[in-house]
Amino acid sequence: MHGLTGLARLTRDQWRRPADLERRQLRALKDLIRHAYDAVPFYRELYDHHGITPADLDNPADLQRLPVVTRQQLQSEPHARLVPRGVDPARCLRSRTSGSTGVPLEILFRPRDRALFNPSFLRVYMAWGLRPWHRTVSFQSRSERLGRRSWYQRLGIFRNRVLLSRDDPDRWIDQLRRARPYMIHGYSLTLKLLAEALDGRPAGDLRVPLVTSTSGVLDDGARRLLERTLGARVVDIYASDEAGSVIAWECPRCAGYHLSTDTVATELLVDGRPARPGEDAAVVITNLTARTMPFIRYDQGDVARLSDRSPVCGRGFPLLEEVRGRAADFIVLGSGRRLTPHPFFLVLDHALGVGQWQIVQEEVDRLRVAVTMPDGHTLASLEAIRRAVSDLVEPGTAVEVEVVDRLERSSPTKLRSVISRLPAGRTPDGRLSP
Ligand SMILES: [Zn+2]
Repeated sequence: MHGLTGLARLTRDQWRRPADLERRQLRALKDLIRHAYDAVPFYRELYDHHGITPADLDNPADLQRLPVVTRQQLQSEPHARLVPRGVDPARCLRSRTSGSTGVPLEILFRPRDRALFNPSFLRVYMAWGLRPWHRTVSFQSRSERLGRRSWYQRLGIFRNRVLLSRDDPDRWIDQLRRARPYMIHGYSLTLKLLAEALDGRPAGDLRVPLVTSTSGVLDDGARRLLERTLGARVVDIYASDEAGSVIAWECPRCAGYHLSTDTVATELLVDGRPARPGEDAAVVITNLTARTMPFIRYDQGDVARLSDRSPVCGRGFPLLEEVRGRAADFIVLGSGRRLTPHPFFLVLDHALGVGQWQIVQEEVDRLRVAVTMPDGHTLASLEAIRRAVSDLVEPGTAVEVEVVDRLERSSPTKLRSVISRLPAGRTPDGRLSP
């Protein structure tokens, strides 16, 4: 589906009545589960093991009879078992993501599986006033594929310019001055750095009406700074590669986040049962678009709360009160400059032989990288990791790589990829003293 066709469909969907959306979602779930059961060895075996067949799914509550699937579970499966029989994993596109957990998962996909990814973001931007003729700027990490523009962007519709998140904040500000975008989109930690840079160095008449943040919740301080320095409205968008699109997003009129129930079936669970409004609950998603590597009742590893409010904007999507638990720390360099965790994700998610990983900043000049190496390791492979991580930080920073059996957990269920043990004031929640 073309991006704009997808956008047209999603734009219509949001105004459907809740009962209509539920009916459509149930139909999509049935199709997906039938497909996974018939074609994907992993799901066939899993559902057989639990004595479930697609025919057992008759109403939305029946979804709870299917087992929840975790990232670790999928990570330990050979690719051929996760895709439909007849699909050659070697011919699929791939992305690797470890979210904030340090457990990289390779996602196999074909272009159709991501057809609604961009449209699902555009729908949110447009709800907040973006129009096709507005210019936008988005932050990306260096090794992501840059500059592949869609046909409509080449025509000047939804034109976007990419800034590199590893560049110096002063450089971002210069580029923003030149681009004069309507909207900036970026990772929450990158936007926090931008907010603080703008605070220290007034950007003159630079005004950006809209800032959208993803991959971690932007804290209130950074939000207020962006509002004050850019005159922006700041919007949090909750999305994941596994979900293949936006999961939930802040509404300009309602208090809280709308769940995009037309592209993702999201459940909030406490000990396996549906959560009540206001409870801290695990986010379990079913990606309704992807057929190559289905995600059905997949535990995102995030925490959110259901809202007891009804929408006032006329959209048919239910509301979350809050999305939490997507935190990762900054790495603080000796010079005081802070790096977001994303460059480390790129290096370690792709390092040869690494099962899971975690970076602990013990001191300002000492990083400990803990890795699991399920298939064994050599001194050379550890040295390669050490060098790749050293390249990201300043000279003089000691980087130790340690092979462990298991990673440190901040809670019984939660792994964190980047942990800073620096005292308060040098951690993400405090401003750095010069
Ligand atoms: Zn709303």
